[in-house]
Amino acid sequence: MGKLKTNQDKKIESLKIKIGDFDLAVPGTLRTIYSKCGKDYCACQTDKKARHGPYILWDRKVDGKLSSKMVSKEMAAQIKKWIENRNKLEKQVQEILILSQSIVSNLVEESRNLDGEKM
Ligand SMILES: [Zn+2]
Repeated sequence: MGKLKTNQDKKIESLKIKIGDFDLAVPGTLRTIYSKCGKDYCACQTDKKARHGPYILWDRKVDGKLSSKMVSKEMAAQIKKWIENRNKLEKQVQEILILSQSIVSNLVEESRNLDGEKM
């Protein structure tokens, strides 16, 4: 039997298309640091402004442990996009899960009505 698509069905369709279109998606955050080197005579030891950097670190959990990797500026720009992708992807998946539950709940209700059952 042909069934008209509900707004929820349409929303799921469009979310599926968006998800299918994603690039890479990674967890974590980026942070910029200035650091001291190991040389006793270097100005960085006493002067905060003489510290080396900026260095960009990509922080994320790997096997449950925090991992910080130094990355180039170019790589950081890429990773920033991939982190945003992941956040978007997670949001979209979450939306699909919520919509699915709602749609299936409605379907279950409808099928119960068809059977004429009352619980
Ligand atoms: Zn130094």
